[in-house]
Amino acid sequence: MRLILLGPPGAGKGTQAQRIVEKHGIPQLSTGDMLRAAVTAETEVGKRAKAVMDAGNLVSDEIVNAIVSERIDQPDCANGFILDGYPRTLVQADAVEVMLKQKGLALDVAIELAVDDSAMVGRILHRAEEARAAGQPVRKDDNAEIYADRLRAYYKSTAPLIGYYHAKGKLKSIDGMASMDQVTGEIENILSAL
Ligand code: AMP
Repeated sequence: MRLILLGPPGAGKGTQAQRIVEKHGIPQLSTGDMLRAAVTAETEVGKRAKAVMDAGNLVSDEIVNAIVSERIDQPDCANGFILDGYPRTLVQADAVEVMLKQKGLALDVAIELAVDDSAMVGRILHRAEEARAAGQPVRKDDNAEIYADRLRAYYKSTAPLIGYYHAKGKLKSIDGMASMDQVTGEIENILSAL
């Protein structure tokens, strides 16, 4: 099962991806997590990505495409994977089609978590507050000011993917404002019908 979760930052992609991981035993491939790990490890990619990420802008297609292509060659991806936060541009969407085709694979579905984005900044601030309270590191981009830039990047570059997957007959949209459990249930309905 190979699926993409789509939606603006704060829509709940990460939370839902975790639940799919637990239920279906396929890995979550979050380019945001992979890039943050590269920044922490101070790799070449991390050094190039850090300032861009801190400003809420998108890292280059070339970097993320290479990271994902390598990652899906790992044995734990053999039975499928969840793409979380990738693809995020039309160039990345085309790249993922090509890379999967070359590996003899294809995407099954792109699931859009449709949300009211005016509520998302509140969720992001809550996430930052929870991390702080738990003594965990707070993401540098989880604040109201940078969130506005992340949302702009979403509408400019990522939202067109909804039309892209619709045109391919791969899009399923669900109400991401429903409770977490309801969203999980909707996702399960989609996955069981594949
Ligand atoms: P996320 O954890 O998905 O919110 O991603 C955090 C940040 O990592 C984003 O604001 C971007 O700077 C960068 N990033 C993550 N995924 C991508 C991607 N697919 N393309 C470009 N930049 C990305």
